[in-house]
Amino acid sequence: MVEGVEKGVTVMNIKTGSDLVEFICPSCSARWFREYGVRYCEEPDGDTRDYYWWNDLPALPPFSAEGAVECPQCGTRTAGRLARRRFAESPSAPPPGAATPSAATA
Ligand SMILES: [Zn+2]
Repeated sequence: MVEGVEKGVTVMNIKTGSDLVEFICPSCSARWFREYGVRYCEEPDGDTRDYYWWNDLPALPPFSAEGAVECPQCGTRTAGRLARRRFAESPSAPPPGAATPSAATA
């Protein structure tokens, strides 16, 4: 927990990183990987939320049935498992794959 926030201001503890997710199709045993960008948000009340994206698009957590992806070979929806998690060096660094600096301040 990080304190020292100016009073009246609530700041979430946010970490960004990437999850390398391994998928193994239960039907045809195809195996593939995707690297998701993730933002891990810890809210002041202790809740944590993870936001995933892939190919610049928001994605559901790939470990859940809702976030399962289709097998590239046979189309079977397959949930993944975490192969590797990395955190970005700086919490304020733009997450990989989500850097769209079109709105950067000039
Ligand atoms: Zn398959």
